Amino acid sequence: MQRSVSRIALGLTVMFTAIAGTSAPVAAQLDLEALQDEALAWLQEYIRINTINPPGNEVESAGFFARIFEAEGITYEMAESAPGRGNIWARLEGGDEPGIVLLHHMDVVPADARFWTSDPLSGELRDGYVYGRGALDTKTSGILHLATFLALHRTAIPLTRDVVFMATADEEAGGFFGAGWLVENRPEIFEGIGFLLNEGGGGSDVDGAINFGLEVTQKVPYWLRLTARGEPGHGSRPLVTYASVKMIEALDRFRRHEFEARLIPAVDVHFRGMAEGYAEPWRSRFENFGAVIGDAGVLRELQLYDPGLHALTRNTCSITRFEGSEKINVVSPEVAAEIDCRLLPDQDPDAWLAEVRRVLGSEVEVEVLMGFTPAVSSTDTDLYRTVRDVTLEEFPDAGFVPQVVGGFTDSHFFRDLGITSYGYTATATPSADSGGVHGNDERVTEENVRRGVAMTLRILERFAATRPVMEDH
Ligand SMILES: [Zn+2]
Repeated sequence: MQRSVSRIALGLTVMFTAIAGTSAPVAAQLDLEALQDEALAWLQEYIRINTINPPGNEVESAGFFARIFEAEGITYEMAESAPGRGNIWARLEGGDEPGIVLLHHMDVVPADARFWTSDPLSGELRDGYVYGRGALDTKTSGILHLATFLALHRTAIPLTRDVVFMATADEEAGGFFGAGWLVENRPEIFEGIGFLLNEGGGGSDVDGAINFGLEVTQKVPYWLRLTARGEPGHGSRPLVTYASVKMIEALDRFRRHEFEARLIPAVDVHFRGMAEGYAEPWRSRFENFGAVIGDAGVLRELQLYDPGLHALTRNTCSITRFEGSEKINVVSPEVAAEIDCRLLPDQDPDAWLAEVRRVLGSEVEVEVLMGFTPAVSSTDTDLYRTVRDVTLEEFPDAGFVPQVVGGFTDSHFFRDLGITSYGYTATATPSADSGGVHGNDERVTEENVRRGVAMTLRILERFAATRPVMEDH
């Protein structure tokens, strides 16, 4: 977190309007191939902008979008939530139907160049792949949105609803300088908005078997800080009990505690939808997971087989941080630990916190560092059906399921506002590449970028345009 009082422009929004007459949009025939070429070049350029968070420095990448909007004659707004933390958005005005936001975050996680085959900020195009931090999470998504947004603008086809392009800061650190800040400080942007597309879902390609998931809800993070206190002293003369011992005892009880496993409806739908892609015994189990949810042996097997899917069956916690004495021979009067908990999307957080406090016992103080409110987006919408139809037209043999994800994205900020928010990127990531998300050699296939432009455009064309943008259908 960086704060400064010297920047008076902080938090002020600046609106830019392109000078009239520079490039007035004309109804033009869309050249899809040319747009795909542009998208590829934009992606490479975008990856080269260092938005590693911390510190993020998203003003640089916001400037990249601003330059493109200026060249296209599109009005946009930019806001700095803190020095260097840029956010940018632009709106194409349409009819009275609820508007849609195309959201992505501009920041990326750090990369250790020692383990990469190319510079993580190179944007290098090699053997049909674009390499670089953000290729999967989530600069490609932003470029697919940009290409679609510009195509709608360039062809000037009347829209049934507003379409908003939005690129934000800070998602990788919780979104409080990005999406969360905009919701808090610029709520008028979201008036009349009914839908939002964001990261969090999309396709996977396992040896040619394509499966798409559209994220409708996610587990709810609760990050807790635990503190234990006791009598300090010298390491040479141990006391009967002291802060570290109290913490160890509490954490030992906690690690052995299992939160009740239960199958919520959204996970049931998710498991049934993907069952076909699994070999036995998992296929039968996923088809009717309610039958085995009470079987501790099966749950342990699932945790070993796929910890991410297991995490969808219960509230979970990982014990991740410890702070003890600063010196080996000093018994500290205070020690701390932090635990990363994720709740099922229908969990009452207060009831769960009471359970956590009971297990940890009275010697440990529990502080909530971060906690969100749970929410699920309905699949009974035209947007859901449009995304599904376009996906299955492109991949007729693919699976397509509404999905619950174990991680979290910025979508919760918008679900809180009642906006139907889906995690979906129109790419089918080869399974060998999925480890690149926050890992090494993050890369996206050129084919995914090109096809993703066409698919995203088709989705928006059907959902928001009054007539086709592309000619081929
Ligand atoms: Zn992301």
